[in-house]
Amino acid sequence: MITATQGVKLTSQCESCGGELVRDVGQFIDRGRLWWGVEGRCQACPNAWCEMDTGPAPEDIRQALLTKHGPARLHLADKEASLVPVLLALREMQHLSLGEARLMAADLMEVGLVGTSVEMVYLAEGLRNRSVTVTITSSPT
Ligand SMILES: [Zn+2]
Repeated sequence: MITATQGVKLTSQCESCGGELVRDVGQFIDRGRLWWGVEGRCQACPNAWCEMDTGPAPEDIRQALLTKHGPARLHLADKEASLVPVLLALREMQHLSLGEARLMAADLMEVGLVGTSVEMVYLAEGLRNRSVTVTITSSPT
């Protein structure tokens, strides 16, 4: 499913007491930026924390979201479109070098980019702001 907010609950063992630790992890878009967050709470002791930041989510959070919700694929609607706005948007959003942006743009042109739904919605917004037409589909797993 393609959504701009995704979350998943993970359970593990609390390092302090051995009880059940529940972590609410997720990605979302706020004020044009990509965010990730973790809220952890032990069911048995006061161990609790909250963490949030912008940018790419830690890999364990990405994997948990991909496992739970499935990946999304972003395509360029017009394969003949100019690469310039695509490169500008990718560099601006992902803080890439020109070389990295070119590689990413080539993937986008050819097979599409795959990531979590929130990541693809975020990229799609940036590209649409530069008048690049894109589509997002649920990627077959
Ligand atoms: Zn505990």
